[in-house]
Amino acid sequence: MKKSIYELSAEEKISWLKSHGHPSFRATQLSQWALKPGITSFQQMKNLPTPLRQQLEAEFCLRNTQMVTHLGSPDDSAEKFLLRLSDGSCIETVLLHNDKGEHTVCVSTQVGCAMKCVFCASGMNGLVRNLSAHEILEQFLFVADHISVTHQSAGTANRLSHAVIMGMGEPLANLPNLLAALKIVSAKDGLGISARKITISTAGLPDGIRLLATIKHPYHLAISLHAPSDSLRNELMPINRKYGIHSVLDAATYYFHQTGRRVTYEYILIADVNDSKIHARQLCSLLKNQNALINLIPFNPVESLDFRSPSQERIAQFSEILKENGLSSVIRHRKGEKLEAACGQLRLHHLPK
Ligand code: SAH
Repeated sequence: MKKSIYELSAEEKISWLKSHGHPSFRATQLSQWALKPGITSFQQMKNLPTPLRQQLEAEFCLRNTQMVTHLGSPDDSAEKFLLRLSDGSCIETVLLHNDKGEHTVCVSTQVGCAMKCVFCASGMNGLVRNLSAHEILEQFLFVADHISVTHQSAGTANRLSHAVIMGMGEPLANLPNLLAALKIVSAKDGLGISARKITISTAGLPDGIRLLATIKHPYHLAISLHAPSDSLRNELMPINRKYGIHSVLDAATYYFHQTGRRVTYEYILIADVNDSKIHARQLCSLLKNQNALINLIPFNPVESLDFRSPSQERIAQFSEILKENGLSSVIRHRKGEKLEAACGQLRLHHLPK
C-alpha cells in the first residue's frame, strides 16, 4: 500500500521534495491542494510540474477508501456511507445536515469495537482493528468531497463545520491515531474545523479522558453513561467492571477543571431497563456536583436485540425529574435513525455470512 501524503509533516514533505530535486515552496502548494475538497488525484494539482505530480503519484496516495453503500440523500437531514478500506474491512461514516448550511460528520475510529456494550451493534462481532490516522482523516475528506459536489450551488456557507467522533469504535482506545488525524482537521491551514466544534464520545476510559484534558485546545468531551449505578452500568457496559462509574466521573471532573469546558453525558433511554423514576433520581444524585449537560437519547432499534425505546410520556417524565433537580438535559433523537437504524448495523449486514 502506498504511504498517505497526509502522514508527512511539513519538514518531511520538504526533505522529500529536495531529495527529488524540487524547491521547498512546493510543500505549501502540495499541502493546500491535498486538503481541497474534490482533489482526489495528484494530477489535479495544476500548478505542480508534471514530473513532480508523477513522482508523487508513484509513491503516495490521497484516497484509499471506496464507497460501498450510500443511504439517504443530500436533501435529507442525514446520509450514511459504508466505506471499504484497503484491506477490505468496512466502516460507517454519517453526514448530518442542518438548515443553516452547516454539515457535521460522524466518524468511526475502529473496525468493530472491543467495548461490547450490550445495546450496541458496532461491537457485536468484537474488535477487528484500529483505524490508521489516514483512515480517520479520510472520512473527513470523503464527506468534504461529497459536500463540494452535492451542495456546490448552495452558497459559500456550505462547508463541513462540525465533527462528532461517535461512529464505530472506542475513540480513546485509538487515541494517538485519532489525535494525529484531528490535528490536521482542526488546524487553520488544515480543514479548519475548530477544536470546540469537535466532540469526542467515549464509553469512559479514565486515562484517555485525563490525557484529553491536557491538550492545549481541548476537544469537546461526551461520556456515554447510560446507567446511574455501577450494578446496572456493569450489565450494560462491561468496560465499567474495570473502572467503575466513580473513576470515570473523577476523570471528567479533572477534565472540567483543566479545560473549563462542560462535559456532556449521554444517556440512552431503554424501556424498562434504565428509564424509571428511580433511575432518574439516582442519576440526579450521581451528577449533582458535576457541571453536566445530559443528552437523553431514545434507544435506536438494533435488529436481533430485544431492547426498545420508551414511550414519549416516559421519556418526558424522565427529563422532567432531571429538570426538577436542576440538571440540564436535552432529548436528542439520533438523526439517521431510518438509515439502517443504529450505527454498526449497516456494516453487520455487509459482513460475509
Ligand atoms: N465508543 C464511544 C463512541 C461510539 S458510540 C462511546 O461509547 O461513546 C456513540 C454513542 O452511541 C454512544 O453514546 C453509544 O452508547 C450510543 N449508542 C450505541 N448504540 C446505540 C443505540 N442502539 N441507540 C442509541 N444510542 C446508541
